[in-house]
Amino acid sequence: MTNDSIQDGWFTEKSDLWPGQGLALKVKQVLHHAKSDFQDILVFQSESYGNVLVLDGAVQVTERDEFAYQEMIAHLPLCIHPYPKSVLIVGGGDGGVIREVIKHQAVEHITLCEIDPQVIEVAKKYLPSLAVGFNDPRVTVHVGDGVEYMKQHAGNFDVIITDSSDPIGPASALFEQPFYAAMRNALKPNGIVCTQAESIWLHLDLICNMKRFCSKLFPVVGYAWTSIPTYPCGQIGFMICSLNPLTELEQPTRSFSDTQLKSLPLRYYNKRIHTSSFTLPQFAQVALDAV
Ligand code: SAM
Repeated sequence: MTNDSIQDGWFTEKSDLWPGQGLALKVKQVLHHAKSDFQDILVFQSESYGNVLVLDGAVQVTERDEFAYQEMIAHLPLCIHPYPKSVLIVGGGDGGVIREVIKHQAVEHITLCEIDPQVIEVAKKYLPSLAVGFNDPRVTVHVGDGVEYMKQHAGNFDVIITDSSDPIGPASALFEQPFYAAMRNALKPNGIVCTQAESIWLHLDLICNMKRFCSKLFPVVGYAWTSIPTYPCGQIGFMICSLNPLTELEQPTRSFSDTQLKSLPLRYYNKRIHTSSFTLPQFAQVALDAV
């Protein structure tokens, strides 16, 4: 199988979703390249970011900076919710979000619904530091489409985390109103949703549209963000929605002690970054306020 994204020893991430730009990473060795039923899966060892998982030409995780994303998408909702017992992760086949969710002792059941079993297999083999949580006794893996799964599980979850790839291919439905309506129905009372919600530098219109329909479905809606070098423009955000009208998204109801921050460990998330992650640059704040 040829790989057009690697030329002269450099991988370049090109996509119509970020026209005219492309992150380049120097390749040491291609470890895996195959087509699954859903997408093109590439794993390579890079010179400076460890092993890299690429789906349909888009970087999903690198070993060096993935924690900036996984910690935020998991701990933001889990520290806002006062008693998260039952958690659903949609997508997330690399295991990174599971690794973070199992750090919460209050959580009793974790279900991962990933459409592509080959992503899980590849992560177990080439991204062991992400896939560490698959054997946790609280974890159940369901292979299937998150859209269909959601429709069949009304009233089941305290927290739903959608760790999705970009809005093309199998993930496109995960950015649309019917999926958010289904997530709302799959929540228990006072439940919280946290989803991958793209970058303010590239997809502000999409983010505004998501906020628009989320505000029709949930009484509390916010956009938080994290800084991460290998996602387009170095920034990605999360749409966070709560069914409890009294929720203050910026104020976690649960927090990690200094000892836990060191021992778990946590390398990006803390209480101060939780609060500040909802603060936006003026151009994005104005656009989202206008929704
Ligand atoms: N953190 C990454 C990012 O922001 O680019 C995304 C992680 S990646 C592991 C996302 C996963 O979502 C992929 O493994 C993909 O197979 C899965 N996925 C895409 N569409 C899905 C769907 N409809 N249902 C369940 N999983 C889906």
